[in-house]
Amino acid sequence: MMKETTLILFFHRERMTYRITIVGGGIIGLTTACTILKEYASVDTLKLTIIADAFSPETTGDVSGGFWEPYGLDLSDQRIMEWARYSYNIFLDEYFSSKAARAGIMELSAYILKGQQVNSNDDTSSNPSFLSIVRHYRVLKSPEIDMFNHLGSITGFVMSSIVAEVRRYLPELQRFLQQDSRVKFIKRKICSLNELKNEADVVINCTGLGAKDLVDDLTIRPARGQVRMRSIDNVFLLYCYCLRLGHACSCSMDQIDVLF
Ligand SMILES: Cc1cc2nc3c(=O)[nH]c(=O)nc-3n(C[C@H](O)[C@H](O)[C@H](O)COP(=O)(O)OP(=O)(O)OC[C@H]3O[C@@H](n4cnc5c(N)ncnc54)[C@H](O)[C@@H]3O)c2cc1C
Repeated sequence: MMKETTLILFFHRERMTYRITIVGGGIIGLTTACTILKEYASVDTLKLTIIADAFSPETTGDVSGGFWEPYGLDLSDQRIMEWARYSYNIFLDEYFSSKAARAGIMELSAYILKGQQVNSNDDTSSNPSFLSIVRHYRVLKSPEIDMFNHLGSITGFVMSSIVAEVRRYLPELQRFLQQDSRVKFIKRKICSLNELKNEADVVINCTGLGAKDLVDDLTIRPARGQVRMRSIDNVFLLYCYCLRLGHACSCSMDQIDVLF
């Protein structure tokens, strides 16, 4: 959900302000804004503008499961592993902070199950490389794995992951950003990045699916998914069952059950 932003700003002595504009007010836009403020905490000539035609609760993240797991990605790409690690560590810090409950950040044990034949002597055969990022994990063995016999032959592991209740997290990020006098929010639709050429020194595109229209990025596409929410007693376990053709996930957290 969150990427590390490496941004090199060229500061000109004669220039009074440095204008960075982020287009997009979803989880990527707001967390990018937070990262920039962290990187340039002492630069008071920075002006950070966040422009979006929709903010929470009308972003994609507001309807997401908010579960940390590098899923459906090329894990041999070291950049993805670094982004995943950066996000995990930030969420973990937030989980241990005093604002965790207000921001909807929870740590929970996730059972990741795979419906496939495995060599039962090979304990590590189902370990994805991102397990090196998480705090705790263990490969499931008998008798624990036998709890899932009704699913057929499966392999799996349990890991300590993070869930962000994004409808609470985004308003919290927005509140945090609004407290900084260098930050401005604007509700506006951008039809071309050229509109911003006289308003910003650096423009960061965080428009998600909107990038398809805004910058003709034909590689961007929605993946299928749905979230069902229902009341449930406090349960802090998540079961994720991956089949070859799909991904079924059941996430039970504080009063909310999410399936996608
Ligand atoms: C059902 C479902 C479940 C999911 N579950 C998970 C999960 O468990 N874990 C996980 O990590 N991910 C999950 N995802 C994916 C995750 O929600 C998205 O990857 C993430 O929310 C994308 O965030 P974003 O900020 O890039 O995009 P968005 O939230 O779509 O935000 C885009 C922003 O750009 C603005 N914008 C776009 N175009 C323009 C324009 N031309 N002018 C001005 N503003 C513009 C929009 O108004 C918005 O503010 C799920 C997604 C769905 C649909």
